[in-house]
Amino acid sequence: MSDRDEASAHIIAVANQKGGVGKTTTAINLGTALAAVGRRILLLDIDPQGNASTGFGIDPRDRKVTNYDVLIDGAPLTQAIVATSVPGLDLVPATIDLSSIDMELGRDRSRAIRLRQAMQSSVIDSYDYVLIDCPPSLNLLTLNALVAARSVMVPLQCEFYALEGLTQLHNTVAQVQQSLNPALRLDSVVLTMYDRRNNLSAQVAADARKNLGDLVFETIIPRNVRLSEAPSHAMPALLYDHTSAGSVAYQKLAAELLRRRNDVIAA
Ligand code: ATP
Ligand code: MG
Repeated sequence: MSDRDEASAHIIAVANQKGGVGKTTTAINLGTALAAVGRRILLLDIDPQGNASTGFGIDPRDRKVTNYDVLIDGAPLTQAIVATSVPGLDLVPATIDLSSIDMELGRDRSRAIRLRQAMQSSVIDSYDYVLIDCPPSLNLLTLNALVAARSVMVPLQCEFYALEGLTQLHNTVAQVQQSLNPALRLDSVVLTMYDRRNNLSAQVAADARKNLGDLVFETIIPRNVRLSEAPSHAMPALLYDHTSAGSVAYQKLAAELLRRRNDVIAA
């Protein structure tokens, strides 16, 4: 059971087993927007695709100590933390090696609590928020995130089938609550890739609000080409073009998150 109190870092797993819904884009840009208003952020990339690491321009060859070492070999988290181009935002990178975790830890009794154990490190107390960028699967990696986190944030792509699979995610969260992490809450849903020229987007957003109520953030992330271009320039959209609609939306999302958490922005 997590004994972490709210005075230390608030840990958010950005999760949805559906692929390509905006998990990584949200982790990177929400993290950057929170750092921009003075919050200290640690982003944990636990996806073997390593998209969050690449999005910050961290070359795979420079990922010397990664979440693989942390989760599988028990390397201290402090050794795996790297600074990014965003002041106040640090990252623990991932590489493709992580994809073997199921095979490597299959029978290990501590397999689901590895990340939580690693995060018991006092270094976590030097951050305000930890964002965990999960892979598109309800596998052992996502399970580790759910066991380590307080909150689950679910990006929902404003496309057909968006709500499918949410029941499964809810059930998984409920199971983790009942077993390893009673404090876990699926407490936010972010609508992503909203296209205002497309009626389907509006329909999906309306359905999500009807079914999920207050879980859904008021802020909607539009479909915006700057958000998709930024990773190829190895930087968050907020650095690449901070005036773009996507960047502005993530800044609003950060402000809304802080309001929800009564985390007052200093004037
Ligand atoms: P995976 O499940 O593979 O980890 P993901 O859920 O992390 O994917 P992203 O990688 O964030 O999703 O986004 C998928 C693709 O869509 C990426 O190419 C990204 O640049 C693009 N994208 C994400 N959000 C937006 C947006 N709001 N507007 C335009 N493109 C976007
Ligand atoms: Mg991703």
